[in-house]
Amino acid sequence: RVVVGTKVDQNHVNWVTAYNMLTGIRFTVSRTNAKLDRPLTDADFDAKHKFSFDITGNELTPSAKYDFKFKDYAPWVFRHLRAKFKLDPADYLMSLTSKYILSELGSPGKSGSFFYFSRDYKYIIKTIHHAEHKFLRKILKDYWKHIEDNPNTLLSQFYGLHRVKIPYGRKIHFVVMNNLFPPHRDIHQTFDLKGSTIGRDFKEEDLEKNPRATLKDLNWLRREKHLEFGPEKRTLFFEQMERDVHLLQRLKIMDYSMLVGVHDLQKGNQENLRDKTLQVFQPGGDAPTEDSGPDGRGLLMRTPSKLENARKARELRQIIKQEKPIPMGQSSSRMPDTLEENTTKRDFIFYSDDGGFQATHEDNSPGEEIFFLSIIDCLTHYGTVKKLEHFWKGLSQDKKQISPISPEPYGERFIQFIEGITKSPEEAAREKEAQATS
Ligand code: ATP
Ligand code: CA
Ligand code: CA
Repeated sequence: RVVVGTKVDQNHVNWVTAYNMLTGIRFTVSRTNAKLDRPLTDADFDAKHKFSFDITGNELTPSAKYDFKFKDYAPWVFRHLRAKFKLDPADYLMSLTSKYILSELGSPGKSGSFFYFSRDYKYIIKTIHHAEHKFLRKILKDYWKHIEDNPNTLLSQFYGLHRVKIPYGRKIHFVVMNNLFPPHRDIHQTFDLKGSTIGRDFKEEDLEKNPRATLKDLNWLRREKHLEFGPEKRTLFFEQMERDVHLLQRLKIMDYSMLVGVHDLQKGNQENLRDKTLQVFQPGGDAPTEDSGPDGRGLLMRTPSKLENARKARELRQIIKQEKPIPMGQSSSRMPDTLEENTTKRDFIFYSDDGGFQATHEDNSPGEEIFFLSIIDCLTHYGTVKKLEHFWKGLSQDKKQISPISPEPYGERFIQFIEGITKSPEEAAREKEAQATS
């Protein structure tokens, strides 16, 4: 059975948080987008703005369903980042602003982060730790520069950084980022690769229960899989990956992984639309969560037509052009009926084949797989890990299992692993043979 996310509606425990997140995003993003564009300044990277929402509203913020505070970080930087990633401003608001738009993914992984999809599955909201939040703010300029110099970066794309807080509640920091996986295509296999083998094994027998589970390094090796791109695409991919990892090394980041989604063209999109819509990943590789909707498929409500959607997008675009504030609380609470391709992705090399990067054989004939590739979870700073390690050391018998390696060797090992799997099966076989005879 397909793993499903849980629709966040009014009965969901995190409904208020989700509502506040989206209301805050809608307000702050349209507020920044309404202004005339201008180049970034140094101050933009440190900027933060606090807003209070309440049920009556005030001269600055419109009325909202709940009382909460919302903080918007570096709005101009993220506006420019969204432009670099070629997001359409109206589209972005459309995806993130409907009433119950989100589906929550499984139970949180080790890190305790929550994941939410926008209703059209284009975007992911990930709650992050305070340390990750502080760290992202600290490296924001480096990240920005890297995106400027590397439009085809494989790093996670960050579109926004915010914080919500309800009265007497705790502060919740979160980022908005790209969903690597296309809304309109089946992903037949998912791997989360770190280049390490310790504990990097998803129990094969659990695959039966959960065929869409995220597999790990050892599962990849066991299947003798390859990222087969032919000589040109391989060089492009490898060199970009190397540049990205060098940045992470320089910023003393570790624990990131290469997320790989595989679409098998021969299998195609077998699942019908209903099921296809429900294929979602599971953060942290935990047990599958069942959907809680009334019909057992809560993500799929009656939906607005394509035409309706297009009309709304047009309206939003006009609002933005005329620099009018966006009307609050009027958007649809239904899920879209068809999930569309994210066409802007076509401009980026590694996302140009229907959102991914198609395999190519040694002879340059097209391969049977489309790979969806990104370096994810890249906000873990070595300093934080060291502190955690210090804490755990006394508790664990097997120190090696948790002992983190420092960012330099982490990156080297990562690069080596990716290099090792980026080849054709024939090449891998030739190498194996050469090794055996030498
Ligand atoms: P941990 O720190 O325990 O590894 P985490 O909470 O930091 O977990 P991530 O490693 O960022 O979570 O992501 C967990 C899983 O969520 C990934 O293995 C992947 O399956 C999925 N995921 C994360 N980011 C994306 C993305 N941008 N697009 C699609 N899937 C994603
Ligand atoms: Ca991770
Ligand atoms: Ca993490």
